[in-house]
Amino acid sequence: MRYDISIAYGAETPPWPGDTPYSCRWAWDMAQGASVNVGHVTTSLHLGTHADAPLHVIPNGAPSDSLPLHVFSGRARVLDVQRATEGSHISVDQLSALLSDGGVPARLLLRTGVSVATGVFPDRWPTLTEGAAAWLAAQGLRLLGVDAPSVDERDARELLVHHALFGAGAYVIENLRLGDVPDGEYHLSAYPLLVTGADAAPLRAVLESVPE
Ligand SMILES: [Zn+2]
Repeated sequence: MRYDISIAYGAETPPWPGDTPYSCRWAWDMAQGASVNVGHVTTSLHLGTHADAPLHVIPNGAPSDSLPLHVFSGRARVLDVQRATEGSHISVDQLSALLSDGGVPARLLLRTGVSVATGVFPDRWPTLTEGAAAWLAAQGLRLLGVDAPSVDERDARELLVHHALFGAGAYVIENLRLGDVPDGEYHLSAYPLLVTGADAAPLRAVLESVPE
């Protein structure tokens, strides 16, 4: 079984309020007599499914073209955290209880149930505490994926979860489409597009079932 867990770079995906929406125009247009159609896209790099680069939150941090490929492919676990989010944060205790069978995986994809896949940018979404993010990384996590628009809160200013992960050598995927994917173990393929010098890179995220 294969699941495309990507959200489109397209006009149907709402940008972060104030950020750049997607538009595609023709640099050359056959309807205007050109010999080919050639597109010209304007978009925030954070619109659809993407990896943040450390440069997103760290001045002079590593840019999008240095995202390490091995992190973005391999065994990954999908985990629903909706039952742990009565508050807006997921603590170490809540997370360790949810991960009690199997321990901390190298790649963890969290379903908060809040996503731009609905076509509306959400007001709020659950996030890990800074401590929970640091705990995951200390236990060997290398990639945290979320269905929400950010691993931090919408009005976060210090972006503590981003910093806790990047500071420990872990990476981030945001805006996953996890709606119909059952919890469990998969093989993730989500290589970031080779965009030079940017703060984020779009990617196509795909999960495939693995034998038990
Ligand atoms: Zn982002």
